[in-house]
Amino acid sequence: KLSMRLTAVASYVETGAILADIGSDHAYLPCYLIRNEKISKAIAGEVVKGPFESAKKNVKKEGFENNITVRLGNGLQAVEESDGVDTITIAGMGGPLIASILQEGHTKLGQVKRIITQPNIHSSSIREWAVQNGWVIIDEEILKEDGKIYEIIVLERGQANYDELEMKFGPYLLKEKSPVFIEKWERESTEWKRILGSLEKAGDTEEIYQRKEQLRKEIELVGRV
Ligand code: SAM
Repeated sequence: KLSMRLTAVASYVETGAILADIGSDHAYLPCYLIRNEKISKAIAGEVVKGPFESAKKNVKKEGFENNITVRLGNGLQAVEESDGVDTITIAGMGGPLIASILQEGHTKLGQVKRIITQPNIHSSSIREWAVQNGWVIIDEEILKEDGKIYEIIVLERGQANYDELEMKFGPYLLKEKSPVFIEKWERESTEWKRILGSLEKAGDTEEIYQRKEQLRKEIELVGRV
């Protein structure tokens, strides 16, 4: 059974989409979408040999070799123009890594209409990449599974302006302010305050000073939510 996290990611893939799942690991996400007949064609990309092999094994076991092409490649290098990919999923990585995959692979985005990301941390990197590259956030979700909190950000082409709070917390998530959202930011804020407290006991080098300023800023931002 697919995790609640990946099931949520899958729910944003439109029926009939041609998908590239980057960093697919076991290829659970594309396999789930094929099994449920939501899509019939996908690329599973992996940069590491071990996960690439397990993706191939899993696709074979499920009998989806005609539907899912597993490729070894860094980021969007796994995508070829002739694939006709119109949807990309990148899940289970940090926001900055996801943003760098999109940045480095921007020439492969020509036919892509929707990008579904699930950053584990620093989701604001994805929002920053989006506004700088002509994408808008069309939906967001936050969920908790096994004590961990995950965010999903869905992008389509367009232009938008987000203020500082929206960039940090997500325009949709900020509006919704769900209990999980509150819990996430209370957790983060508690952690920032703890780090700030211990830095206050440390000496005041320029680096420590900068870090403290940054922590104060973040604590202040959370206070405005
Ligand atoms: N997407 C799956 C999920 O959400 O459950 C797997 C997440 S796993 C934590 C991250 C995967 O991304 C690893 O298998 C790793 O090898 C792969 N990965 C990391 N950087 C990558 C890159 N630049 N290109 C392709 N895959 C990458």
